[in-house]
Amino acid sequence: MKFCACDNLIHGLNFFGNSVRLCNTIHIGTKLINEQEIKKLTPTKIIKARKELFERLKNGEIPCECQGCPYLEEKEWDLSAKIDTIHVFHWIHCNCGCIYCANKYYTKGKFSDEVLPAENYRLYPILKNLYEKNLISKDNLTVHFGGGELSVLDEADDLINLFLDNNVKEMRLMSSCITYSQAVSKAMQKGHPLVFALSCGTKEVFAKIKRRDLFDRTVANIRRYQQEAGIFKSNTVSRYIIFDRFNNTKEEIKNWLNLSKDLGVGFIDLSLDFCGSLENKRGQKIPTEMYALFDFAREKCKELNLDFNIEQFSSQMLERGVY
Ligand code: SF4
Ligand code: SF4
Repeated sequence: MKFCACDNLIHGLNFFGNSVRLCNTIHIGTKLINEQEIKKLTPTKIIKARKELFERLKNGEIPCECQGCPYLEEKEWDLSAKIDTIHVFHWIHCNCGCIYCANKYYTKGKFSDEVLPAENYRLYPILKNLYEKNLISKDNLTVHFGGGELSVLDEADDLINLFLDNNVKEMRLMSSCITYSQAVSKAMQKGHPLVFALSCGTKEVFAKIKRRDLFDRTVANIRRYQQEAGIFKSNTVSRYIIFDRFNNTKEEIKNWLNLSKDLGVGFIDLSLDFCGSLENKRGQKIPTEMYALFDFAREKCKELNLDFNIEQFSSQMLERGVY
């Protein structure tokens, strides 16, 4: 039977702190579990909610949040296929307070090295149960860790090991790298990519951007991860988010690229502060100076033989010319 859906609706699970959704794309996807139910989240509730959603989709009902989404497609969907995309974003605690962080919580100084549980629910027993019920793919699963910061989430190691033990295909691990994690290193040694955003190449700018004076410690941790990753160190992604008045200079970008080269990363990812831009500059023209920074980075990457990439949403914004 043909009906309208998308891969995320059928195969995705996105665990936020206050809800479970189906995707994390331009739209945020429909809620499977809402704020009222989240503290009592169980695998059974997820299974029931997915079944109900599938029935609604079969009846031609498109969830409000998904209406108009370009990913929707009418075709025969295999509803027995397993979950193959999981976003783990269910905690907000972090050990730094990046100036551009979408979660303004941190910028008010609410960050620390303390290892804490996620605010509303433990995810490990839920995923373990879904694996036991054979609902998660064991040959085609992609996991995105967001957060919060992995190294200060109490169940992070259990989650990483659970995915590794179940043959996860790709697990993207985002970390501030302020604290070293053995589980992150173990995953990297199996080829899973670490993504870190220094957004600077010097101690001074790091302290201003991250609100922690821990540049040397962070770089030492990245160096250790890279050394332990061996041949897989080239999977690592070094990201830089350009933030007005803090790091929007060619000099700092050059410092960052030189450092990234020295760390042996495989991919360079330059980004606009797209969340902040949408909040404060929506509709404004992107200045030519900004394009010059991207051009400069591209040229410098050629010189250093680094794989230059522009973050996906930033690339779309740069193409259309307005924030
Ligand atoms: S239709 Fe769009 S918004 Fe809805 S789950 Fe799919 S990709 Fe996400
Ligand atoms: S490391 Fe990530 S979660 Fe933590 S403050 Fe920075 S952007 Fe936010």
